[in-house]
Amino acid sequence: MVCDRIERIGVVGAGTMGSGIAQVAATRGYDVVMRDIETEFVESGFETIDDSLGRLESRDALPEDPRTIRERIEGTTVVEDLADCDLVVEAALEDLDVKKDVFADLERVCDEDVLLATNTSTISITSIAGDLDRPERVIGLHFMNPVPIMEGVEIVVGEKTTDEATALAHDIAAALEKTTWESDDKPGFVTNRILMPWINEGIRAYDEGVATREDIDAGMELGTNVPMGPLTLADHIGLDVCLHASETLHEELGDRYKPAYLLKRKVEAGDLGKKTGVGFYEYE
Ligand code: NAD
Repeated sequence: MVCDRIERIGVVGAGTMGSGIAQVAATRGYDVVMRDIETEFVESGFETIDDSLGRLESRDALPEDPRTIRERIEGTTVVEDLADCDLVVEAALEDLDVKKDVFADLERVCDEDVLLATNTSTISITSIAGDLDRPERVIGLHFMNPVPIMEGVEIVVGEKTTDEATALAHDIAAALEKTTWESDDKPGFVTNRILMPWINEGIRAYDEGVATREDIDAGMELGTNVPMGPLTLADHIGLDVCLHASETLHEELGDRYKPAYLLKRKVEAGDLGKKTGVGFYEYE
């Protein structure tokens, strides 16, 4: 399926999620502009894409030559290079002020009818769009990590998001071969509202000596048929990302969302999970 209203997709942020979104869009035939604030971050995004395309090619899981896919992606540090895009997906830092600045820039450089999406995990779409002249075209397009592998995309509908923008978001996700579900713009949406307490309870169970880290993960994998237990999943997401999401939910929804002590302690110690080589487990 191709969403023919969209030809060129902008991605803001070339980190874990932005590089994945750029890769998936290029794999489905779209021209992509991937923007970050520094050239080194753009280059690092391309390295992530090359690694991922290489792995997918070795599994025969790409529709065409990885070089052809890669050539569709243009890297930039210049906001104005997003001007010709028909859709922009923001995947910058999880910080309301950063996101507000990004969307103010996008409103300035993009045409009026361009759909502006955010990949935020927990920040309200309504607050990101609050200061804009046209908040009705802002929507949450919440991809899951790792983007090239995970099939689901959560569509988050802000207070002023129009039905037309929502329908277009579903269409573009389908064109990227993703399956969608919709959430109202409530804290944590569907996924993180339920996932974060699950992860924090896994961490508390470990900290309180209920079982070894391996047995906590095995218990949840084998006992509830999920592909990864809470400690392994937290390491994959990044413990700093989990802590930030948990703190946001705690602030919005009260004490039942209080982050686990050991999660805070590990982030303080710089053990952020797979990305730093140590989290609840050790990685090569
Ligand atoms: P990341 O730290 O890997 O990447 C963020 C990138 O944004 C960095 O390269 C940074 O330089 C760049 N950036 C910062 N300010 C910018 C700006 N003004 N303009 C352009 N680029 C800017 O973060 P990530 O894990 O990719 O997360 C990005 C977004 O996706 C966050 O909102 C996060 O909550 C959300 N998200 C993350 C995950 C996950 O598992 N990591 C899953 C779903 C959603």
